[in-house]
Amino acid sequence: MKISVAKTAGFCMGVRRAVDMVLDAANKSDAPIFTYGPLIHNPQVLEMLESKQIHRLDSIPVKGEGIVLVRAHGVPPEDERALADAGFTVINATCPRVVRVQVIIKKFAQKGYATIIIGDKKHPEVVGLLGYARGNGHTVTTMAQLAALPRFENAVVVAQTTQNTKFYEDIKAWCRKHAPHYELYDTICGSTEKRQNEIRQLAQINDAVIVVGGKESGNTRRLAQVAQETGTPSTHIESVEELDYSSLASAHSIAITAGASTPNWIIKDTCQKVEHALRDSRPVTGKVMDVLDVVMTTNLLLALGAACLTFGAARIQGGDSALVYALIAMFYVLSMQVVNNVMTIKADTYNKPHRARFYKAHKPWLVGLAVGASLSGLYLAGTLGALYLLGILSMTLLGFLYDIDIIPKFMGGSRFHRIKDVPGSKTVLIAAAWGVVTSLIPAFADGTDVLLALIAFLFATGLVFSRAAFADILAVQGDRIAGKETLPILLGETKTLKVIRYTLIFTAVMPVVAAISVSRFSVAWMALVPGTMLLLIKAYQDDRFLSSSRYEILFESLFILAGVIALMI
Ligand code: SF4
Repeated sequence: MKISVAKTAGFCMGVRRAVDMVLDAANKSDAPIFTYGPLIHNPQVLEMLESKQIHRLDSIPVKGEGIVLVRAHGVPPEDERALADAGFTVINATCPRVVRVQVIIKKFAQKGYATIIIGDKKHPEVVGLLGYARGNGHTVTTMAQLAALPRFENAVVVAQTTQNTKFYEDIKAWCRKHAPHYELYDTICGSTEKRQNEIRQLAQINDAVIVVGGKESGNTRRLAQVAQETGTPSTHIESVEELDYSSLASAHSIAITAGASTPNWIIKDTCQKVEHALRDSRPVTGKVMDVLDVVMTTNLLLALGAACLTFGAARIQGGDSALVYALIAMFYVLSMQVVNNVMTIKADTYNKPHRARFYKAHKPWLVGLAVGASLSGLYLAGTLGALYLLGILSMTLLGFLYDIDIIPKFMGGSRFHRIKDVPGSKTVLIAAAWGVVTSLIPAFADGTDVLLALIAFLFATGLVFSRAAFADILAVQGDRIAGKETLPILLGETKTLKVIRYTLIFTAVMPVVAAISVSRFSVAWMALVPGTMLLLIKAYQDDRFLSSSRYEILFESLFILAGVIALMI
């Protein structure tokens, strides 16, 4: 069974921007936060906003306080003024593409032009646009309505951003023929069209289509309609619980798409549950996938990767790592990762719903695993000497303290109470900790040359930093909901990807420098690891067809590649 997720599935730019803005406002301010009307038509997102005390304002009170966010559809200018006059701080999250249409209408309305909007007069975006037409706005949903309008001396014609492209082409053709003096503007947003075109293509090469999104969401309903028109069996679900798996039993390939208001976590949950439910039809590969799931979810793959990276770092230092160092690194990483996952169940509910369920269901067992791994690592470090035991113990305590108030909240003052509160700290600390256990501890124990130890440390740290920062990109939506300040939240996805690319290029140079230093040129093969990571980043930027869990498996497997190369050179 092959599952393809449409690369256009989920939030469009305008919706993502509005959701980010309201969550950022809630995470940074103690003032009451409201959205003017429902932020988007998705019940799970609205529920999530309520859980974060972000309430909905359906009418404008005479007096109010707090922050009000104007949603992506925009509002009439008088509503924005009335909100400010009532005492609210207004954050305008109107999509820039809708703002462009507002600006066009405003400009021509000031010159006395009539405005003809091709769109539904009840749709919030159109209601907002009409507010800029100075009382001379007209809405049209059929050719007959357009023909019935008076011939205006001057008029500007625009379309609702989610309008059907073909229909708008017909409208423009009619205007050119019957009212050539009208000013025509192309205002349809490409996002909707791309989404519809993609599902048409995917429906042709797949046996079934699942459209995920709110039943109240107009664009999701239209997407489901487009899928249905292709003739490929399709179903529109609001959440995966509604899915009738028997209708998919004979399908060998399934395409999943989602409306512009569907969050990533619902899409991920759908993919994961569909894939899981259909595993029974493939007894052998299904079992392999089950095992891989457990290995990934419990971080065993990552821990094995840490052991392999220790061997790789040893090769860079011109030596052979003893098994004990690899085991210390493995146990340390396993315990810290499991502790981290136990502490981030809330964020995982939005990032990795299946992992959150697994950790909730098996919490005592997983805590036992973390404690057992931690004690094993400490015991092995103790066999190297008191200094190493103290080093691993300090790093373990730092890991446990990461999410705990070091400065009590009642003392007030700064917003930094936990190490976690320092923006971007997680990615940097994880990378540094891996660098210490995989390269510095073995280097000190073996008395390796300082320069080579530093090169190995930079190599390991660079790889782990890149993997952690990339994982943060994949988890950005859930992290924002949980109020985390990861690198992609601070810098944005584009800049974070740039940082990762430069880090990987720098990391790839390290084995080459080491190869020259130790006069063992085969060590340069280790550059394959960051090189392959760079290719994965490129694949992610070019084409997002791979699911985020597959990217994670590939990234984590590359640490094992470091061990394989170490064995071969
Ligand atoms: S569909 Fe287009 S215009 Fe509408 S909010 Fe999304 S990006 Fe903006």
